[in-house]
Amino acid sequence: DQLFDYFLWIIIFSLVIGYYFVVPIGGADMPVVIALLNSFSGLAAAATGFVIQNDALIISGALVGASGIILTNIMCKGMNRTIWNVLFVGIKVSTSTAEGVQKTAKSYEPEDTVVIFENAKQVIIVPGYGMAVAQAQHMCHELEKILEEKSVTVKYAIHPVAGRMPGHMNVLLAEANVAYDKLYDLDQINPEFEQTDVALVIGANDVVNPAARHDKSSPIYGMPILDVDKSQTVFVLKRSMNFGYAGIDNELFYKDNTIMIFGDAKDTVSRLVAELK
Ligand code: NDP
Repeated sequence: DQLFDYFLWIIIFSLVIGYYFVVPIGGADMPVVIALLNSFSGLAAAATGFVIQNDALIISGALVGASGIILTNIMCKGMNRTIWNVLFVGIKVSTSTAEGVQKTAKSYEPEDTVVIFENAKQVIIVPGYGMAVAQAQHMCHELEKILEEKSVTVKYAIHPVAGRMPGHMNVLLAEANVAYDKLYDLDQINPEFEQTDVALVIGANDVVNPAARHDKSSPIYGMPILDVDKSQTVFVLKRSMNFGYAGIDNELFYKDNTIMIFGDAKDTVSRLVAELK
């Protein structure tokens, strides 16, 4: 009877701790905390394995615990934050939106861009969460094949936190049979943008926001980004001027060398493929 009482108190205590542990976590930090809690559940399973002397539980628990903590670490690195910062500090969102400056972005129809693609030597495709939403990965592969037939070199730049989970873009592109050796990590591809004719940003936003490099007031300041703005022309495929996950505007859209192509990414890439054919 007394054991049951203890047990009940432990459950209540755990619920309260659990609630206060996750309630202050902001939107973009949520997946990191989920990965961390996943890791804890693995450790708990391993501990149970020791108590009931079950080797399978110990091994599987240890695997879940270890992979969860590795995943947490990768996500923290991708956002340039420490786990301490994610758990206890939170993201500061800048509220000064009124800059008093009228900013304009240029926009083209997909068909207007064909000449630029045909004259390019190198195109770097930068996929983001929008490619996943639009399921545009197969069409991207089609575009890649057509460009290569026209002697254009095509590479993919993969940001570690593009999409909504680590490896999100790799999984989608693998599903569309994009060759693995065409995918480049941030460190490998960043020096190449300066010699690139076209950076084709497909549904990515935060991971290409130059504010991360210089704007100390930006919530993503310090996050490593893909330097697409350094290429000669940047095409950004998205449906509107809406924000990405971090909820902030992107100065890339207003740069002189950036051209927006509005619409669903799959639709836009299909139109581009049709026109290039
Ligand atoms: P973002 O979330 O910054 O932006 C995605 C963009 O895709 C939106 O701006 C949206 O614009 C566009 N979009 C949505 N649907 C479509 C569509 N059908 N066709 C075309 N465009 C579309 O994505 P990123 O990949 O650049 O960045 C990932 C963000 O997620 C980062 O802030 C990262 O920190 C965060 N994050 C990532 C994790 C990970 O492990 N990968 C984990 C936790 C957080 P519009 O609505 O105008 O179309």
